[in-house]
This record gives sequence, C-alpha cells and structure tokens, in this order.
Amino acid sequence: MSAPASQEVPCLISAADLQRRVAELAARISADYRDRNLLVVGVLKGAFIFQADLVRALTIPVRCDFVKVSSYGLGTESSGTVRLQLDVSQPVAGADVLIVEDIIDTGTTTSWLIEHIKRQGAASIKLCALLDKPARRRTTVPIAYLGFTIPDHFVVGYGIDYGERYRQLPYVGFIPPGEPQ
Ligand code: 5GP
Ligand code: MG
Repeated sequence: MSAPASQEVPCLISAADLQRRVAELAARISADYRDRNLLVVGVLKGAFIFQADLVRALTIPVRCDFVKVSSYGLGTESSGTVRLQLDVSQPVAGADVLIVEDIIDTGTTTSWLIEHIKRQGAASIKLCALLDKPARRRTTVPIAYLGFTIPDHFVVGYGIDYGERYRQLPYVGFIPPGEPQ
C-alpha cells in the first residue's frame, strides 16, 4: 500500500481557526510588550510557521531569533536530557524574551530552555505556545500565551512534522493511532 498524500491527514484545528487565534495572541502580545525590548525566540523547526504568522500580526517593534534543541529518549517521549543544537545569535541580556514553541508536551524541553535563556540575563522570559498537551506534563511550565489545549493525539501540520513530512499543511491535523503512514 502506498503512503497517503499529506492532505489526507484528518483535521484537528482548521486554518481559519489558527489564523483567528494567532491574531488574538498577537494583539495581546502587542499590548503587553508596548515600550519593551521584545525578542521573540522561536524553537526550530516546529514553531517556524507559527512564529512567522505571529510576528507579522504584531503592531510593535520586535527582534526575531531562533534556537534548536533536541531531547534524547527512546520512543516518543523526552528523556530529560536536552541538547542545544543552535543557540540565539544576538544578545539576550536585558531583552524581554518571548519563547515561541509549537507544542508543550511533557514540558521537559521548554523548562530547560527557560533556564538556558535565564542564564543569559534576559530581563523577562515568557512562553507562547501554539498547542498544549497537558495529559503528558511532567514539569510545571507557565504558558503566558496559549493557542489551543489539545488531547493526547500525535499532531502534524502548520510547521509540525512526522518524519519531516506534513510541515506544509495549513491546518493542524493528527495521525490516527494504528494508521499506516
Ligand atoms: P516536551 O514538552 O515533551 O519536552 O517536548 C515537546 C516537543 O515534542 C514539542 O516541541 C514537539 O517538538 C514534540 N512533540 C510533542 N508532541 C508532539 C506531537 O504530537 N507531534 C509532533 N510532531 N511532535 C510532538
Ligand atoms: Mg518543539
């Protein structure tokens, strides 16, 4: 049997709902960070489309940067050991950092990242996440700006991949358990 085309993945959050929510988050962030020194740090690769849409909807000055992290582990869960593959490229000291994540799952990656940014002397650090999967949380992570709370599905699309596929989908879909990919 051949692999299904990526557009066949069932929809969890439509493109219209994503765009509406991104506009709401951007309006709140624009109000909260007026007259601040906003540095948006996106977590590659999964947050790249969310970050691109979010910053284009802001009405205040913003600097953009990126980090890339990987967490080791067997299976699909983070092991707790986080490895930094790419660090921010501009000064964090004194900046009001907004970390932009695709999904908060166990919380391991994000907790590590918050500490990492803190050590570099950020004036403030907050988290903006597109999706929250509270069912699998292992550490408390305060999400200041949240797109959607979702059930424990394996999701793809809008920047989020499965084996590097599906990132280009304009909506968030899910891989039904037991389906051939
Ligand atoms: P954690 O919070 O467990 O440390 O890791 C969160 C990261 O695991 C997310 O940023 C994302 O990269 C990955 N992840 C968690 N849930 C999913 C999912 O449903 N689909 C995909 N593609 N990645 C996920
Ligand atoms: Mg991620």
